[in-house]
Parts: sequence; structure tokens; C-alpha cells
Amino acid sequence: MKDYIIRATAAQGYIRAFAATTTNLVGMAQKTHGLYPVPSAVLGRTMTAALMMTIDMKSESHNLSIVLKGEGPVGNVVVVAKPNGRIKGYVDNPRVDLPLNPLGKLDVGTAVGKKGKLTVIKDLGLKEPYAGQVDLVTGEIGEDIAYYMAVSEQKPSAVALGVLVDPDASIRAAGGFIIQPLPGAPDELIDSIEQRIAKVPSVSTMVDEGKKPEEMLEAVLGSMDLKVNQRIYPVFACDCSRERLESVLLSLGEEELEIILKEDGKAELVCHYCNTVYNFDEKDIIKLIENART
Ligand SMILES: [Zn+2]
Repeated sequence: MKDYIIRATAAQGYIRAFAATTTNLVGMAQKTHGLYPVPSAVLGRTMTAALMMTIDMKSESHNLSIVLKGEGPVGNVVVVAKPNGRIKGYVDNPRVDLPLNPLGKLDVGTAVGKKGKLTVIKDLGLKEPYAGQVDLVTGEIGEDIAYYMAVSEQKPSAVALGVLVDPDASIRAAGGFIIQPLPGAPDELIDSIEQRIAKVPSVSTMVDEGKKPEEMLEAVLGSMDLKVNQRIYPVFACDCSRERLESVLLSLGEEELEIILKEDGKAELVCHYCNTVYNFDEKDIIKLIENART
């Protein structure tokens, strides 16, 4: 089944809702980075959240980044998503292995760490990007994103994210949903949604059963006049290029480049997001030094 993300409204517009299936996308990330199961769940949950938060951005040139800096062994987690569904991301340590948590689930909270920061950066094409930061709550990512939305964006939200990994490390199911009551939504409405959320199966179970994003929202919202307004298809894709990495080298400055030339005679740069290797030989570095002088 093809992955996709939807944006919807329900209950006469009192509810905004987002839902995503991302099994193939997380599978691509798993293969690209050789992720172990827990880092797959970490990156998969973060990417799924980012896509749902990006879908209603106005321009294709805008983007949204989520950066998790926790004390856990997976290290930094970085994801950059565009409103057309293009997304890239990585974790510092793709080969973290941890025992299951007491609930028998992949221990995302320990991998990320319970102490640290969650930062969301929105590049809206303005002079300065918007950035909001909160402390991590549990490191489980869903709760952390919900906390960010309530505190930083004043949008109380229910956030559910899930990634199911098979014993051979391949991705079996991944997805998520976000439910946001708008100001003025009646208390009874919010109560009834909370009760339903507590009763529905986990996201990864629903995706594993073959549920589509619309069907997950129907399970959570019931007969609340669900209207789907937008749908996008996610792609795990990097936008790096030799030119971009040349400018990284150039930004080191003439002196630093002279040292590289003397000590190594070459430079090898690896893109964190897609692991593409870019090699610069002696001639390339001499050329860059000449450029750095002018
Ligand atoms: Zn790349």
C-alpha cells in the first residue's frame, strides 16, 4: 500500500486532524542508514510527525525541521520535511541496540533520552526562520511533540506515532495521527475524543491491519463529519550536491584548506542525510583555495 498523509477537518470545523501511513518511507530510511530497530522507531516517529506538521505550509519552498538533542545513546535526531512530502533525516548513531521496555515495546524513550531539547524550525522564506524549543518530556517523541504544540504553538493536540519493526530489522508498519481541537470546541466533544483515543488500537497495529489514514481518523473521531482537505505522498529524498559540499569546504577558509592540503592532500565529505560520499582531490582543493582567496 502506498504511503500518504492527509489533512482533514471534522465536527463542523471544531477539529483539525492529520494522519499518515509511512511504512515504505521508514523502510527507505532504514535501508539508507542501516538502522537497527530502535533507531528506526526514533527516526520513523520523528519523520511521521514532521510530515503531518508540514502538510499545510503554504509554499513548496518552505520547510520544517525537527531536531531532538537528548542524552540517550541514539544522539541527535535531525529531520527536514517539505510540504510536498519530500523528507530527509538521520540519527547520530544508527546502530543502537536496547532491550524492550517494560511494556514490551521498542525503547524509544531510553534511546532518545528523557532529558534534552526538542527544537522545531520553520523556514517560511522570511529573513529569520521561526524556531520553538521545549524540554523533552519522555523522549518517546509523540508526547514530546504534543508538549511542543501545546506550549510553543498554543495548539493542544493528541499526537500518536508508531513504528513496528520485524525481527530482521525491516519495517512492518509505520504511521501516526494528530488531533487538534480548535478554540471554542465544546468540552463534551474533546472528552468524547479523548475517550475514543484511549480505546483505539495503537497506530502501528492499525497500520499493520491495513488501515488507511482516513480509516485511522474515523476510528478515532467516529461519525464526526470528516472532510479530507489535502493529501500528499512522502518521499525519502536528499537534496545534497557536490556544489553544496564545495561551499561547505570553502566556508572553512583559506588557512584551514591549506592545512587539509598539506596534511591529507584530499578531502572526503559524507552527507549525513543520505550517506553519499563526495571526494575532493588535491587539484580540487587547490582550486578551492584559489576561490577562497578571491
Ligand atoms: Zn545527501
